[in-house]
Amino acid sequence: MRAKYALERDKRLRPEAVDQFIEVTADFSHYADDPWTERVERDPVHDHVQVAIIGAGLGSILAAARLREAGIADVRMIDTAGDFGGTWYWNRYPGVQCDVESYIYLPLLEELNYIPTERYAHGPEIREHLQNCAKHYGLYENALLQTTVTGMDWDEHAKNWRISTDRGDHFTATMVAVSPGSLTRPKLPGIPGINEFTRHTFHTSRWDFGYTGGDESGGLTKLADKRVGVIGTGSTGLQCIPHLGEQARQLYIFQRTPSTVSVRGNRPTDPDWAAGLQPGWQRERMENFTRVTCGVEMDVDLTDDGWTQKALALSEPAVARETARLGREMTEAEIAEFLFRADWEAMELLRARIDETVRDPKTAESLKPWYRLNCKRPGYHDQYLDTFNRPNVTLVDTEGRGVERFTATAVVVHGVEYELDALVFATGFEVGTEFTRRLRFEIVGRDNVRLSDKWAKGMRTLHGLQTHGFPNCFFLGYTQSGVSPNYTHTAEERAHHFAYLVSTFVQRGATTIEATADAEDEWLAAMNASSEKPKAFYAECTPSYLSSEGDKDNPHGMLSTNFGGKPVEFFDMLAQWRSTGQLEGVTLT
Ligand code: NDP
Repeated sequence: MRAKYALERDKRLRPEAVDQFIEVTADFSHYADDPWTERVERDPVHDHVQVAIIGAGLGSILAAARLREAGIADVRMIDTAGDFGGTWYWNRYPGVQCDVESYIYLPLLEELNYIPTERYAHGPEIREHLQNCAKHYGLYENALLQTTVTGMDWDEHAKNWRISTDRGDHFTATMVAVSPGSLTRPKLPGIPGINEFTRHTFHTSRWDFGYTGGDESGGLTKLADKRVGVIGTGSTGLQCIPHLGEQARQLYIFQRTPSTVSVRGNRPTDPDWAAGLQPGWQRERMENFTRVTCGVEMDVDLTDDGWTQKALALSEPAVARETARLGREMTEAEIAEFLFRADWEAMELLRARIDETVRDPKTAESLKPWYRLNCKRPGYHDQYLDTFNRPNVTLVDTEGRGVERFTATAVVVHGVEYELDALVFATGFEVGTEFTRRLRFEIVGRDNVRLSDKWAKGMRTLHGLQTHGFPNCFFLGYTQSGVSPNYTHTAEERAHHFAYLVSTFVQRGATTIEATADAEDEWLAAMNASSEKPKAFYAECTPSYLSSEGDKDNPHGMLSTNFGGKPVEFFDMLAQWRSTGQLEGVTLT
């Protein structure tokens, strides 16, 4: 079993790791253009705000909401996008849907008195809810949308940040939260000949409905006479491929690594269940999900879906059951072996699902994933596999090598040219590159220190929110944070902590708030220690963006830049830190 996994991994490891992808700049910059909102001209802004939040996605909305609840009203949100929503603003591909239960994924449900219409909500509903959150908290009032920050630097004399944008704005802010999101910038595969390919192309996060017809719910009728290719079979590919298969004259799916495809089991929300929810239910459910999925033994599994059921079978509760069955403690080696076998069995069930669904045995074999479940983000879908039974759909298995090259009109795999009219890149988002490269602007702190220099060998923060030498600056999102599979829970915990720091600053009449260098060193040591276990796990995995494509020591990758222990340990630690009121490791002046 282990040899099979190692063989499949080795086929896919590439020395270029994250450098195999092309940044969407220069000739490729149009892949990141906004297809959703017409540009509106406006006058530049020259003023001062108390808090600027760079980013208007889910994490930023939560942070701003918690600030408003703490009585801090002077907040400005800035985003390149034409509206609020972040990921859910950009991603409008057909079939777009959350893969974590919407009752815990959509934020602020109790605050807005809203219940999603289905268990796994679709993109338009999520986007509308996020925009309603922004309206509810008055975040549109002072926002600068369709605006890209081009730089920010600390004014030591005035004790504030100077922020400039591509709209000619020059304003100041007492505090800034930098919240750019972690899967934001589309990336393209560096396949030879990509520059020469002349057929119609776009990235899934900028879907071209003008070309395909239809909308987020499908109906891509303009593809009826088109030969379409899609590169990428990750979470996005899983969701859009059934719609492409339904409408394209011919669909070629160029697969490098198959995803796991578990049962989705979506259903409309039961109004009786919703009516019985008690105040505080969302927080309780969110907490319960994260605790169950990271292996904490709980009395009840409130979500009880694919995520939690697999966690219960593959983590500490399963070990506890096995220990009880054996009637003795297991050694570390025995636990590792037991968990490997449990994982294998879970993967065998998923492989069997493919055999049961896909009629052509060769195609079924190609669709089977050969790695441990969590090596890649697990996928859930109930129509994806069946798509391969369509006569107009062809799986082109690149056997781990990826697409070979492009000609002007075709994609080439194993020397065979697949002539296309259009090609969709479902190739994901830039991960594992320098933070400021993904941010697309420089942050200059005290004594003209540039963040790109300070973080050249990796992030340095206290608790992921502050970095020494950059007073009154906070980071949200995946910067040295605990990571729940439910991003909203991570964002919620970060938002609480951020609001606590900002309101403490205001209550105590401070002019600066900053992490000490010692506290930062300590957090870095804790981070490095915590990442050893996940790094060992991913060393045996097939590559993915989670492991920086196999370069597990990449200092800018997800493994190095996030807390590797259980997310709830991180969340509990933050709560404990706040409860003392001592601001240990943070200086206020
Ligand atoms: P991913 O990075 O997960 O997938 C990219 C795909 O492109 C992979 O299948 C990859 O293959 C393939 N690829 C890359 N280069 C090549 C190449 N040269 N030749 C052939 N194939 C290639 O991106 P996604 O957009 O699918 O998902 C990113 C993340 O976004 C998810 O993991 C999830 O966290 C989030 N997401 C969540 C959703 C939800 O909640 N519903 C929906 C969509 C996304 P390989 O696997 O071999 O690298």
